[in-house]
Amino acid sequence: MNRRALLGGGASTALIALLPKSASSAPTAIPWDKLRRATDGRLLELHSPFHSCANNGAACNALFENIKNPYFIGDNPALTQTVGWADAWTSATSARAVAAMHAGDVAAAVNFARDYDLRPAIKGGGHSYQGTSNAPDSLLIWTRNMHDISVTGDSVTLGSGTIWAQAYDAVTTQRAKYVQGGGCTTVGVAGLIQSGGFGSFSKRFGTAASSLREAEIVTADGRIRTVNAANDPDLFWALKGGGGGTFGVVTRLMLALHDLPEYLGGVNAQIKASSNDDYRELVARFITFYSDSLFNEHWGESVQFRGDNVLAINMVGQGLTSDEMKAVWKPFFDAVKASPSKFTIVDGPDIGAMAGRHWWDRSWRVDHHSSSVRLDPRPNHATNWWWRGDSDQVGVFLYAYESLWLPASLLDGAHRSSLNDALYEASRPFGFELHFNKGLAGAPQAAIDAAINSATNPSVTTAFALAISADGAQGVYPGISGREPDMQKAHASAQAVHASMERLRVVAPNGGSYVSESNYFEPSYGTSYWGTNYPRLQSIKRTYDPHNLFAVHNGVRA
Ligand SMILES: Cc1cc2nc3c(=O)[nH]c(=O)nc-3n(C[C@H](O)[C@H](O)[C@H](O)COP(=O)(O)OP(=O)(O)OC[C@H]3O[C@@H](n4cnc5c(N)ncnc54)[C@H](O)[C@@H]3O)c2cc1C
Repeated sequence: MNRRALLGGGASTALIALLPKSASSAPTAIPWDKLRRATDGRLLELHSPFHSCANNGAACNALFENIKNPYFIGDNPALTQTVGWADAWTSATSARAVAAMHAGDVAAAVNFARDYDLRPAIKGGGHSYQGTSNAPDSLLIWTRNMHDISVTGDSVTLGSGTIWAQAYDAVTTQRAKYVQGGGCTTVGVAGLIQSGGFGSFSKRFGTAASSLREAEIVTADGRIRTVNAANDPDLFWALKGGGGGTFGVVTRLMLALHDLPEYLGGVNAQIKASSNDDYRELVARFITFYSDSLFNEHWGESVQFRGDNVLAINMVGQGLTSDEMKAVWKPFFDAVKASPSKFTIVDGPDIGAMAGRHWWDRSWRVDHHSSSVRLDPRPNHATNWWWRGDSDQVGVFLYAYESLWLPASLLDGAHRSSLNDALYEASRPFGFELHFNKGLAGAPQAAIDAAINSATNPSVTTAFALAISADGAQGVYPGISGREPDMQKAHASAQAVHASMERLRVVAPNGGSYVSESNYFEPSYGTSYWGTNYPRLQSIKRTYDPHNLFAVHNGVRA
């Protein structure tokens, strides 16, 4: 059986020895020393940290404590940020990894994998929800140590193992410029760019991929290519949203810098409605307010619609002072307060802006806004930080995850009441969020044009938001006694999440789904993730990787 074809079917928890096929199908030894020499000794043998849980003792408890820390996970090539997904995959360790330092190491690993019929898996920040950066029977190419950053003129060049916290520190905290990256600070730059990629302020600056000027990539033939609008332009286009782990191993990225907004800020509040009818009214009032006052480049991030009749607002603003932000929101909160029998503000509103330069400034946050961040508790790692709001996703075992772009036409007068009904009814089976920064309708035309010139599903340019519903549990791992995920709950959650999103699909039947925040079991995933761009991506894949050396679940295939 073809090893690569076998591996394409998904990961298992068992460690499988890496043995090549000979012409007669009798296994022969793989000359690992050759790869070790070619990579100056950077070939690692990996062992699953979960093996320490064989008797569920102190070492196992310490491991589960540590996998609440995304840096602990990211620093270990044997771990991933999501530990698995019910009925889909479980995080498992590659038997061997090349801890690459430069493109030459990567080329050596790619050539070796191809020549000995091994499947290469690529891991940067390790955040794939769909488990695409790990496979137990793969040769892992691990880019974590490739995190050189240089800023020249209006560009920043990043090693592909850089995470966004490092990029924001170099660009914004140190140089008062802006680079469009991801919201989560520990996500890897190469994985995010190839996802398309959204950050809190994407409604102003567009997708992260849209700012890509040039990339260095090792393709399946082992060539190190520099791709841009002039060199290998199709491949360059595919990297802008065509999905990670598919077209080669990116080793370096050059991104355009933007002017930093003087002010960046946030709005947090929770409003509870007294009855289901009052919640219906609250949903409708919020959508009217969003449409009239927030549907523009200033406002992003999310609002949660919950089954307990709470509307949880976690939004960000850019380019507005605190007073300007408060003035925008005053009519909405005044109207809510004017109906105390219907609505109770149970939290906030907290509204405020700060100097843009301090948004990702760890020291400033610790001194002025420590509740917003978590610090790496390990000795000598205190400069590492992540958003407290992302903590519930670290080391999570997913029960379900689905997303759907909602077209801006739903905000029009003629469709608004159908949208309001769908939002209310979708909140009954399970809560969901609207991420306004992940739909570019309302963004500046330049941001929309740049997204059109990328592989991301064109739906993103006409959507006002991406709806996301998901559930999971932390502190669990399949096969460890006492830490088994509750599969009954997992199945019930998956059904409820699906029912919720199905209600939204009634009003957005062709919305499409964001490749990196979507369902493992997405039907017709190619069209759903890339829309009309899918056939072009398949054609590019056939040109650069005709034998599917690089293959990930729900990825583009030749
Ligand atoms: C907690 C959390 C928060 C998130 N927040 C956001 C967000 O704010 N905005 C957003 O848009 N998305 C977000 N995502 C989704 C995330 O952007 C994608 O999963 C992204 O692909 C992760 O990149 P990574 O390098 O961290 O992950 P990895 O799992 O290492 O990589 C993801 C995919 O890209 C491939 N890949 C990685 N490096 C390379 C490389 N050098 N060359 C080729 N392929 C490569 C991998 O093989 C894998 O298929 C989030 C995910 C999580 C788990």
